[in-house]
Amino acid sequence: MATLSAAALRQAILNKERTAAEVCEGALAQIEALDRDPQGPALHAFQSVLADRARARAAALDRQRTPAGPLHGVPIALKDNILVRGSVTTAGSRMLEDFVSPYDATVVQKLEEAGAVIVGKTTCDEFAMGSSTENSAFGPARNPADPSRTPGGSSGGSAVAVAAGMTPLALGSDTGGSIRQPAALTGVVGVKPTYGRVSRYGLIAFASSLDQIGPFATTVADAALALEVIAGGDTHDATSAQTPVPRYTAALTGSVRGTRIGVPSALLEDGVDAEVKAAFVAATARMASLGATIVDVDLPHSRHAIPVYYLIATAEASSNLARYDGVRYGLRVSAPTLASMYERTRARGFGAEVKRRIMLGTYALSAGYYDAYYLKAQQVRTLIRRDFDAAFGAVDTILMPTSPVPAFKFGERVDDPLQMYLADVFTVSANLAGIPGISVPCGRTAAGLPVGMQFLGKPWDEATILRCADAYERSGTVTTGAGGSVYSTS
Ligand code: GLN
Repeated sequence: MATLSAAALRQAILNKERTAAEVCEGALAQIEALDRDPQGPALHAFQSVLADRARARAAALDRQRTPAGPLHGVPIALKDNILVRGSVTTAGSRMLEDFVSPYDATVVQKLEEAGAVIVGKTTCDEFAMGSSTENSAFGPARNPADPSRTPGGSSGGSAVAVAAGMTPLALGSDTGGSIRQPAALTGVVGVKPTYGRVSRYGLIAFASSLDQIGPFATTVADAALALEVIAGGDTHDATSAQTPVPRYTAALTGSVRGTRIGVPSALLEDGVDAEVKAAFVAATARMASLGATIVDVDLPHSRHAIPVYYLIATAEASSNLARYDGVRYGLRVSAPTLASMYERTRARGFGAEVKRRIMLGTYALSAGYYDAYYLKAQQVRTLIRRDFDAAFGAVDTILMPTSPVPAFKFGERVDDPLQMYLADVFTVSANLAGIPGISVPCGRTAAGLPVGMQFLGKPWDEATILRCADAYERSGTVTTGAGGSVYSTS
């Protein structure tokens, strides 16, 4: 069961080969075996497991006469920065250790209307700041391909849940790569939609001009299905767009004949691991052999993407995180005066990386520095977006590696923030430009570590990148997710 796609599981339930309750028990058993058991691998994909809620939900679906929708009975895991009413949402932070969500995120509502069964909340870097889950206050998740390595981040737990066959689907959030990078490092598919495609209502804000929610899956078709369910305008999120949502599953024709694919080869000249590069070059050749035309494109300003991202993201974070003051949300450390209560609460509630970013962001926004840092970063952001506009005049999609390196070991980068930030070199520009991206597995290193590549698309054109990724997936023997895991999951 752990190796079945979401679409196949739903079909099995509709055919009465299995009940939603059995499928739910299967997911919970897999979590028990792989995630919790100290004798087992203890992957720690889950921050919390909502077993009772999931069982009740599955039983209710089994009593229904007509199927709820396209995800009827499909188990799903949500990153622990997405609110599920009545359950704790920590965002990986001590600050929210006991915070009970007062309402459902819009994506939760949509998933449940479609029949999905939420089984738990997944491990993530604190407030989604990080690339490894090592910034979680509650311990990192482990990579199923090699448990001594990180699964990437910040949505690492969601990637692990899917890669290890605990749930066929998961949701994460991507502010600078947090869906695509862990998808690549664990060998699954991950989609960052166009900014505004999916409602952010009920997503704990990190950097509001960059954040998007998106799916993880073992196949592109499942990712398309999940995106179809969660996409669409929402009156609760003024930045969500009313743009019609196409039927993404219908866009997967299997053909890329005549599709023009741009490769920014100048960006790939240095800093890319040799095995990642080799897998990428082979995958590009495969796309050409499938009938796509490969064209060189220039994204000259993307080499500034890391500093621009880390100025804008920290500035927005410093503002968004001001609300955690001990008064309205989460932790409160009492003190004799209001000012010292703020101070103690924030000192105890936030971890080192979050504090670093609040300080960087506050600095970049402060009088006298605003023009030199924040304003300048916004200007370069515009140039980055214009590079994409120009490139998309000549190509339908842009293809590049998702991460410059395969999964790294615990401790390898966490003490050197700059090294950690460099893991995002290929992912942040899509967020800065607001465009969609999908990471799809494209091979493994000699040591068996997954390698991913990403197709980036024109704004609102998720259909083209899903079609390209699906055509690539169908063309080859690349093992994904559970199939490639070191654990037997069948
Ligand atoms: N790794 C990036 C960061 O630390 C991206 C995080 C994200 O996308 N949430 O900011």
